[in-house]
Amino acid sequence: MATATSTPSASDRLSSFNPATGEVVGTVPVHTAAEVDAAVARARIASQSWSHLSFEARGEELTAFRKALASHADELAELIHRENGKPLIEAYTEVMMALSHLSHAVGRAADAMAPRRVSSGVLANFRSTISYHPLGVIGVIGPWNYPLFTPMGSIAYALAAGNAVVFKPSELTPLLAVKLAEIAAKTFALPDLLQVVTGAGATGAALAKSAVDKVAFTGSAATGKRVMMAAAERLTPVLLELGGKDPMIVAEDADVEKAAEACVYGALTNAGQACISVERVYVADAVHDRFVEEVVKNVRALKIGGDDGHLGAMTSSAQVTIVKDHLEDAIAKGAKVHTGGPDAISGNYIQPTVLTNVDHTMKVMSDETFGPVIPIQRVASLDEAVRLANDTTYGLGSSVFGGKSIRAIASRLRAGMTAINSVMAFSGIPSLPFGGIGDSGFGRIHGDEGIREFTRVKSTAEQMMSLPMNMMSFRQPKDMPTKLKGMIKQLYGDGVVAKATDTWRKLRGR
Ligand code: NAD
Repeated sequence: MATATSTPSASDRLSSFNPATGEVVGTVPVHTAAEVDAAVARARIASQSWSHLSFEARGEELTAFRKALASHADELAELIHRENGKPLIEAYTEVMMALSHLSHAVGRAADAMAPRRVSSGVLANFRSTISYHPLGVIGVIGPWNYPLFTPMGSIAYALAAGNAVVFKPSELTPLLAVKLAEIAAKTFALPDLLQVVTGAGATGAALAKSAVDKVAFTGSAATGKRVMMAAAERLTPVLLELGGKDPMIVAEDADVEKAAEACVYGALTNAGQACISVERVYVADAVHDRFVEEVVKNVRALKIGGDDGHLGAMTSSAQVTIVKDHLEDAIAKGAKVHTGGPDAISGNYIQPTVLTNVDHTMKVMSDETFGPVIPIQRVASLDEAVRLANDTTYGLGSSVFGGKSIRAIASRLRAGMTAINSVMAFSGIPSLPFGGIGDSGFGRIHGDEGIREFTRVKSTAEQMMSLPMNMMSFRQPKDMPTKLKGMIKQLYGDGVVAKATDTWRKLRGR
């Protein structure tokens, strides 16, 4: 059984609401700490069989899972649309991206985890190998903004690496996760391989405290800290994918029309509720006014609401309150409103808001807004743009627009990921590791790093032949200190071997 078992009373159930209409989409159990522990214990048993399968055998089952998910794409997209509020087109995009990661993880697992021979250095008679092994059970805690794509970044890579998973979705989007678990239970030979436990923060806290071998958390920085503290009780390692305040830089030599179009998408897709949303924009003085004009033109062409809208309802009224607060704070401090604004908020719908005359004293330029807001700041130089872009405690995504020289600017950004002449592209390229620094968290999902994130590293040193000088023994000749002194000089001092090594390096240009 893939959803943790329970016989809850009516008050033990959690309702999932459609943020566009306020209707209840469905209810799920609130799992207790004991039920979470039981799910982890079942996952442990499943993990023992799963970890012993070959990559090919795991790959076959995961491919069957991918195909089953693809055949349920309509139901999955519909649930994402109804629980999260995003337009159907974005929900289908999310399903597609989640499946592309599952497919990639399956295809790469064997290579990413292949044992590697490495140099044995001074112990030249040894064969040294690094190997990667599944951890066991991974606890995945997910957010509501991308209820399938985001947790799949951990789930797919953890399963492909040979682990079992217990997934706690956001309390705002649990039905999608329950569906995922149902499909998993029907597909995998081990029905407890991917289980879902539902509930709010307490259920997540129980998972972080449970006997899992790693917690992969995606959510806010504040909750991430709580998860890390809970996991510390058992010294359980954590992977934290947290929030962001992603900057975008537009240089004088950028294609302004293309930059504006990308900016509007990057800031407003999913109504700005993406961890890698464009949250602040720095534009070179020479093209600032033209850029603002283009952005406003693009924003005015958008349709808000409805199944075919570009932007849907915000997922929670709590998030609407935060966005409104950021807008009011900015306006009180002198920001100019070009579209939208706090007065244009109606229920869970926020009209996309373009602001100029903004600065870093405003919340909209320093805190994660997580809404459809585009604050644009004029800069006198690219140096100033880089300084402002890096003036944050976060460091998740970023983007730069300009000619060839913009690559140098990209490399100066203190962020986990940068898109050049595009936005967000790094999240859709499965071979690129995804993650941040600072308040954006640590560890990586996606890519080979994302597979190895769910493994333990083992080092093996195998003696291939005996040497006259055996360092791993107390039986040493009397003149051993003299010999060692000579070796130190030869190998690491000014000796013949060291000199030869230096010469060799110089010849190879290193
Ligand atoms: P959140 O921190 O409120 O909740 C995330 C999850 O943690 C939910 O499942 C919640 O029930 C659970 N939780 C709450 N309290 C807990 C506790 N004490 N212990 C364990 N779990 C607990 O985040 P959210 O509002 O659901 O998501 C939005 C945030 O997620 C934003 O900050 C966004 O930037 C971030 N995010 C980051 C990424 C990324 O990959 N870096 C991706 C998507 C979203």
